[in-house]
Amino acid sequence: MINEKLPKIWYGGDYNPEQWEADVWDEDIRIFKLAGIDVATLNVFSWAMIQPDEETYDFSFLDETIDRLYKNGIYTCLATATGAHPAWMAKRYPDVTRVDYEGRKRKFGGRHNSCPSSPTYRLYSERMADKLGERYKDHPGVLIWHISNEYGGYCYCDNCAAGFRNWLQDRYGDLDKLNKAWNTRFWGHTFYDWDEIVPPNALSEEWNGNRTNFQGISLDYRRFQSWSLLECYKLEYNAVKKHTPDLPVTTNLMGTYPELDYFEWAKHMDVVSWDNYPSLDTPYSYTAMVHDLMRGLKSGQPFMLMEQTPSQQNWQAYNSLKRPGVMRLWSYQAVARGADTVLFFQLRRSIGACEKYHGAVIEHVGHENTRVFRECAELGQELGKLSDQILDARVDAKVAIVFDWENRWAVELSSGPSVALKYVDEVHKYYDALFQQNIQVDMVGVEEELSGYDIVIAPVLYMIKPGYAQKLETFVKGGGTFLTTFFSGIVNESDLVTTGGYPGELRSLLGIWAEEIDALFPGHTNQIVMEQPWGALKDSYSCSILCDLIHAEGAEVLARYGEDFYKGMPVATVNRFGEGKAYYIASSPDAAFLQGLLANLCEEKGIRPLLPRSEGIEVTARTKDGRELLFVLNHQAEAGVVEAGETSYIDLLTDRTLSGAIEVPAKGVLILAQA
Ligand SMILES: [Zn+2]
Repeated sequence: MINEKLPKIWYGGDYNPEQWEADVWDEDIRIFKLAGIDVATLNVFSWAMIQPDEETYDFSFLDETIDRLYKNGIYTCLATATGAHPAWMAKRYPDVTRVDYEGRKRKFGGRHNSCPSSPTYRLYSERMADKLGERYKDHPGVLIWHISNEYGGYCYCDNCAAGFRNWLQDRYGDLDKLNKAWNTRFWGHTFYDWDEIVPPNALSEEWNGNRTNFQGISLDYRRFQSWSLLECYKLEYNAVKKHTPDLPVTTNLMGTYPELDYFEWAKHMDVVSWDNYPSLDTPYSYTAMVHDLMRGLKSGQPFMLMEQTPSQQNWQAYNSLKRPGVMRLWSYQAVARGADTVLFFQLRRSIGACEKYHGAVIEHVGHENTRVFRECAELGQELGKLSDQILDARVDAKVAIVFDWENRWAVELSSGPSVALKYVDEVHKYYDALFQQNIQVDMVGVEEELSGYDIVIAPVLYMIKPGYAQKLETFVKGGGTFLTTFFSGIVNESDLVTTGGYPGELRSLLGIWAEEIDALFPGHTNQIVMEQPWGALKDSYSCSILCDLIHAEGAEVLARYGEDFYKGMPVATVNRFGEGKAYYIASSPDAAFLQGLLANLCEEKGIRPLLPRSEGIEVTARTKDGRELLFVLNHQAEAGVVEAGETSYIDLLTDRTLSGAIEVPAKGVLILAQA
């Protein structure tokens, strides 16, 4: 449990009373109570208010707010206020502002604007966390610490350049090793002095954000910036922990945000939290995958939904309203996949600046008689009724999909073979094929133990880190099923190609050699022609993006290309290795092929769908104390039916007993426990 003081699914969100006059504060409390809100996140952007100058700290407003909420039964998720530095600090200490990708020194403005290497930022952010820890360590209303906010963005200033050189010295020890790792004899880039190394941005090796002449330095700069921001986080983490060793600490992540290695970050978080902002047209299986990824950051530990909007966003191109029922549906989707909180940004809609059109529990009209509020209040009542029944429940998956940020950076920094190759999209294709069949999946990092899984899928495992090939071999030898795809096993952790034939270190496990890699133009496809019907796979399918031209070297050929000069070469293979099997899919297949393939693999391993598939209805489960809770989520605008068979279930939301063909209302949710 995140904090035993509040043994239910926490409900509430970001609250910014400092943007309002005192006359609305009591009204806020009245309306929060109507909605069943029990947690408010305070102090996210209050640095300038709490510290008006270098010497002065004034916590009186925060004191009063935490007290007022607590007296009314509302707990505080207390942020450390360092998500944006004060204007006076930027003026007096220009080192706190960043240098951007184009090499321009920033002035004061925006948020998430501090240089992670700035001595000033590090000093004052740590001091702020320390003072907050000291002041509120005994306050019964504080449930959890929320360090800073949505860490992200890179800096290219001279302090970061110096920090980068230090980080490189720690990583490589001497310049010979660095020159080899970056292959600097290419284009005569050999470094003879650490000071010759400058950050890779538009002034040096990079352009367009992810195009680079040298993948080695660009990859290391991403590692360094992720590490630097994490160091800033850890300063604050340790500062509050010193005062409150038992209070949990988090910082809000952003799903598949590209710039930070969240598996590394999660090691330093007591609980993962994240901000979920799908668009109305985001595939709901994509949102499900990101929830699973956030749960996977800490090996299945429940996470916090820290932010979502009650209705619309402000920063997307087209900020659609959440249709009636959708806020509730997406809230339960988070809970179904491991969230133990449902929190919003924001509780009251601000009247000025760029988030005034971002949805809120209390809209600009100022009262509770709105559609959005009624939906929030109904959900609040339901979460109260659910009490602690779901808290701490785990997801039991036998299939794992590997996700690795460093691999993603390397794939997306690659110059060739195709700009169309998007790592997250390829991962999602495999995830979706399982999702559509109601098969539970864990999203795991490369450090995760694999022995508990029957099937491990690693799409586009381009970078093989030290020891990972052996780990996969051990998994398959022991009876596991492993699947990987085109453009895998190509490079080591420095993005240097493993010579001796693709897929490098995975070659003997997979029993193939990939001789060449063809990139297909947009709209062009090839065919996957089955050698013979195999389970759910019958005849031929299409594939696109990249086509590896492979030779079977011990692997059995399952399907061959149907077109082009490599017609007849293998496109899908399986290699028996020890007690297990290793599959290679040499191109990016259509959804029908992937669903058939994954159905076959699950069938082989005896992994059954939670319920038979019903179009547009998501089914997933969490288990607590041996009791499985089935979440049935209808994403369609019409009612649907799931076939539950003979088993008799109780719906925790309505207390109805259900079995057989169960109707699920449009945008409806059932939480089914066996009766
Ligand atoms: Zn910097």
